[in-house]
Amino acid sequence: MSVLILIDHADGHIKKASFEALTYGADIAQQNGMAAEALLLGTVTDDLATLGKYGVTKVHQAGNTAFNQLDVQVYLKAITEAVNATGATIIVLAHNQTGKALAPGISAALKAGLVAGAIALPDTSNGFVVKKAVFSGKAFANVNINTAIKVISLSPNSYKVTVGQGIATVQELNLTPLPASIKITAVDKVSGDVPLTEADIVVSAGRGLKGPENWGMVEELAKTLHAATACSRPVADSHWRPHHEHVGQTGVQIAPNLYIAIGISGAIQHLAGVNRSKTIVVINKDAEAPFFKAADYGIVGDAFEIVPKLTEEIKKM
Ligand code: FAD
Repeated sequence: MSVLILIDHADGHIKKASFEALTYGADIAQQNGMAAEALLLGTVTDDLATLGKYGVTKVHQAGNTAFNQLDVQVYLKAITEAVNATGATIIVLAHNQTGKALAPGISAALKAGLVAGAIALPDTSNGFVVKKAVFSGKAFANVNINTAIKVISLSPNSYKVTVGQGIATVQELNLTPLPASIKITAVDKVSGDVPLTEADIVVSAGRGLKGPENWGMVEELAKTLHAATACSRPVADSHWRPHHEHVGQTGVQIAPNLYIAIGISGAIQHLAGVNRSKTIVVINKDAEAPFFKAADYGIVGDAFEIVPKLTEEIKKM
């Protein structure tokens, strides 16, 4: 019996959320006296043996480059075969875009109970109870998975990565990919160098910026901090910024280590997408803005004065 952790990758590199999933899966394995193993579909330039430092003893690699592009149909067949070949009974993956696309399908294919968006280790004192946030982080649900095979997707930035000394064995897994069900014909690069859901730092701005022509200072601060940019919903609705930057209840939900909110009031629907950020800094000229109640640090003042000064000071560091 083993825990199998699915490694997500893009452009030849393992995604950050997978390191959290590896640590989490390895801790579940240790908690239940099971082996912790990883599954990589496709190829990466990263050294797979070093994944041992996150607690897995073996990495199964189906190194066919046809797997380098996520294709849900192709992945589901391969993952099901890998689970059968390895005898895994717990499957862990990151609750990022890839995980959200795959986890329900894995659950259905394996007739396995699923907790999507886990935030803590299972409580095994009475069953197999996994905690997840619900109602946009306003409440928690403790979900007992009572099927023989269990699938858990881990909410990004909710589990601390621990690094040890281990070295994993890398073993080729012979899986034949299905013919591709989709073909990507072009990739249009969206704004910013850092994907929003993967970013450690997010610089976000709202209607307080008055218009799209003022986003230069937001992008400059983001570039200085190597951060991704985001925005409130009215900003995207007004086409000041692209919709994929819109965070909140009806937008992207993120949990970066640092979220800087500039000229955003902090409506409940906005907070629903960002309130799991580790540290929140709010810049708003209205001292009564609701966002200050959720902030770890607040600056009351005009964004047009503060943001350029902040960027200058950070550049000096
Ligand atoms: P405003 O509320 O207009 O706030 C602008 C802020 O900027 C104010 O606090 C003001 O004091 C400040 N400001 C103005 N000038 C300056 C300056 N010079 N310097 C510094 N500060 C300044 N919203 C989301 O963001 N995400 C969602 O997913 C989302 N989903 C929704 C779903 C539903 C069903 C509904 C009804 C609403 C949703 N909304 C969402 C909208 C949400 O309720 C708010 O209307 C929205 O978040 C407000 O955006 P804002 O803070 O940018 O603008």
